[in-house]
Formats: sequence, structure tokens, C-alpha cells
Amino acid sequence: METTHLFGVNGMNITNAAYIVAAILFIVGLKQLGSPATARNGNRMSALAMLVAIVATVVGNDIASWEFILAGAIVGSAIGAFSARKIAMTSMPQLVAIFNGFGGAASAVIAAAELIRLIDNGADIAQDVSITIMASVIVGGVTLTGSFIAYGKLQGIVPTRPILLPIRNVINVALLIGMIASTVWLVIDPSMTAFMIAGAIALALGILVVIPIGGADMPVVIALLNSYSGIAGAATGFVLGNTVLIIAGSLVGASGLILTRIMTKAMNRSLANVMLGGFGVEDGAASAGGDDDRPVTSIQHEDAAMMLAYAQSVIFVPGYGLAVAQAQHQVRELADLLKAKGISVRYAIHPVAGRMPGHMNVLLAEANVPYDELKDLDEINGEFQRTDVAVVIGANDVTNPSARTDKSSPIYGMPILNVDQAQSVIMMKRGMSSGFAGVQNELFFLDKTQMLFGDAKDSVEKITAEVKDL
Ligand code: NDP
Repeated sequence: METTHLFGVNGMNITNAAYIVAAILFIVGLKQLGSPATARNGNRMSALAMLVAIVATVVGNDIASWEFILAGAIVGSAIGAFSARKIAMTSMPQLVAIFNGFGGAASAVIAAAELIRLIDNGADIAQDVSITIMASVIVGGVTLTGSFIAYGKLQGIVPTRPILLPIRNVINVALLIGMIASTVWLVIDPSMTAFMIAGAIALALGILVVIPIGGADMPVVIALLNSYSGIAGAATGFVLGNTVLIIAGSLVGASGLILTRIMTKAMNRSLANVMLGGFGVEDGAASAGGDDDRPVTSIQHEDAAMMLAYAQSVIFVPGYGLAVAQAQHQVRELADLLKAKGISVRYAIHPVAGRMPGHMNVLLAEANVPYDELKDLDEINGEFQRTDVAVVIGANDVTNPSARTDKSSPIYGMPILNVDQAQSVIMMKRGMSSGFAGVQNELFFLDKTQMLFGDAKDSVEKITAEVKDL
């Protein structure tokens, strides 16, 4: 698809100028996403960049028919706006997973359209074009189905435990060979058959690569799929010779890879271990929560209030349950009350707590929790043993001590918050169910742990009311 220079002005056309503006807006927007204070503006800038890029592309090309473009833009924008507005905050990771998948699919479909156009025109397809077409469909296809499996795992439709097919490595290698063979075929003799075979293999590979990955490792996979959607977009940009698509795709691809690196570090995993499936898992080895009849100690909110009001130091440990309960404002109110009594209060932030990178930071920033009270894993882990009370609010996997010792556990090796080293622990959750990784948490059964059952928002409100009276 060649850009026709409708707006040619002294060799420099307006389309390319608009692309430069869009690229600058993308880069500045991305930079602003780096801090909760500027993230909203960053999002707006990136959306504006996308608008500029789309308008410049549509206006700068010979468009035979506007009806489909307008209809697509209206339907797509309406679906995007509706789902972003209606979605519950706790379902945002699922929405992001689906959007990643659609990004991959769009790249693959555009590559298909370009291949059909070139074949119909009887054009000689250059090797670099056929290779980038195949890159678009392969990466895009893997991203589509991989993201939908990730969506299923986040939504609880697909089991979060690793699903290990008996000869999965043999199947994966066979698919890889098929993929390389169909690419060579397309380069030598461009045909839709080779393209379709590669597409089908990519779709199968996306499912087979993500399905064996356990719940706790999903942050790595989601970051990687995000990066893939960018790489597929950039490849499609090369196919079309569209500069802004190459830039936007590369930005998504590179930032996704950086996030993947951060997540693998946070999980103490190598990417190969995660992607080759079922890190350290022996079938059926990990114990699931909920079916353990060992006794636990449970307390009421009055007891919890006493423990907190007479402590000298408290660490709050937020997790996914905080997001479900939407208890961030109540937690900050309780923290303010404790601080007014001269008690030291800090928040321990695990890099994979919640269901999105930075999930806890965003939630607590929404409640105006001072940023300097948020301590990451390395900063806070040495502090637990000097802390009177650790209050775990809807966190589970990120506090599970068996990650240190139980080699059969899917979370073995993941660095955890050393909650078990605090003098005493209050564990707020609704029942005895396990976390996302589906493994029992040994922390529940320690003598120092007091379970406070109930919705976190309700529990924190009741504790706050009691502390006010003490
Ligand atoms: P977990 O998923 O391990 O545990 C959350 C706990 O919250 C549950 O045990 C649940 O117990 C409790 N809970 C749920 N609702 C409420 C409520 N209303 N009030 C009180 N408690 C509630 O969360 P963590 O944050 O500890 O760990 C995150 C997990 O998610 C890790 O395994 C991580 O790898 C994975 N993950 C993280 C991603 C990321 O990017 N951060 C992405 C994908 C996966 P109960 O039902 O008994 O109340």
C-alpha cells in the first residue's frame, strides 16, 4: 500500500509531518505513564497520537471507499469507549489481555490483506516483504490465542494451574518446524496456502505456550504478549511501509520487553523457564487451598483494633483482595489514625501483587497514600522482623512462605514478602480459599497469624471505628 502524496509541499508531505507529531506524542505519553501523577495525561497524549496517526494515514492515502472505514471507526470506538467505561477496575487486566489479543489479530489480518493484494496484482513479492508478512501473521496469531488463554486464566474460565500435555515439547517443536517450513515456502513461492498454514500453526502455538503456565507466572506472560502485540504491529508497519506503525509498534514491543524483564526478575524466573511451561511443577504436587482442615486462629475486629492501637510499628501488605474490596480509602484512613497515635506505618508492595503490574501503587495512589510510605520488596523485607503487626489485606500468594521451601510448589523460588517474620500477623480475607496460583498458604497456620474473616473494606471500617474509641 503506497502512500500517495496528496499533500506534497516542497518534497515534505503533511502526512509524514503528522507522523512525526504522532511519534513525539507517543513517546512523551509513554514517558508520562511512568508515574501515577502524570499517567492520566500520558494516556490522553497517546490516544491523541493514535488519532493523529489514523487521520493522517486515512487522509494521506487514496481511499476508494470511505463507508467501511467510517463504519469500522465508529463501531470500534464505541466498543472501546463502552468497555473501558463499564469495566470493573478488578477486570481491567482481562480487558488489557483482550486488547493485546485484538492488536495481534489486527496485524495478522492486515498482513493477509496485503498478501492478497500483492498476489492479485501479480506483483513480484520481495523477500523482505514476504518475511515481514510472515512475521506479522506468526507473532499476531500467537498473540491472539495466547492473550485469550491469559484472559481465560484471569477470568477464572481456564484453570490457573499449569495444564501440562504429555508430549507438549514434541508438539511445540513440530509446530515450530512447521512454521519455519511454511515461511520458507511463502518466500520461495508466495501463496495464501503457506500463509494460512503459518496462521493456523501460530494460533495453535499461542494456546499451547500459555496453557502450561501457572497462575503465579502469568504477569510474565501478560507482559510478553503485550510486547508481541507491538512487535506484530511493527512488522505490519514494515509490510505497509508505514512509519508511524513501525514507531508505535516498536515502542509497545520494547516497553513490553522491559516489563517482561522486570517481571521475570520479580518472580526470580528465567524467561525460558516460564515459556517452556510449568516452572518447577510436578503434576498434582501443589496443594490447593480450601481443602485443608488444619486449625487456624481467628479474631474479631475489636481484637485487631487493640493489636494495632498498641503497636509501635505496622506494615500493611495489600494484595488483589484490596482491589476486589476497593478498600484503599478505608486503609488510608486507618493508617492516618494510627500515625496520629505515633505509630510507624508503611506499605509493603510486592511487584506482582494484584493482577496488573503496578496494581497496588495505582490503587493506593488513588487514595492519596504518600508515595514515600510505599516500600518495595527489597526495601521492606528486612523490616518485618522489627515490626509489631503485619496486616495482610487481601494478599495471599505474595506472602506464602512455602515459596521459599516447597520445591513442588508452582510458586517455588518466587521472592515473597517476609510477613511471617513480623511479631504478629493479621490476615484479612473472606475465607480459606487460595490465591491466584491455587496453592495453600502456610502463613494461615502459624501461631502468630490471626485470621480476620470478612470483606476487607468492611473489616477495615470496623477496625477504624474501634481504634477511634481507644
Ligand atoms: P492472590 O490472588 O494470591 O490472593 C488474593 C486474596 O484476596 C485471595 O486469597 C482472596 O481470598 C482475597 N480476597 C478476595 N476478595 C477479597 C475481599 N473482598 N476482601 C478480602 N479479601 C479478599 O493475590 P496476591 O496479590 O497476593 O497475588 C497476586 C497473584 O496474581 C500472584 O500469584 C501473581 O503472580 C498473580 N498475577 C499477577 C499479575 C500482576 O501483573 N500483578 C498478573 C496476573 C497474575 P478469599 O477469597 O478467601 O477472600
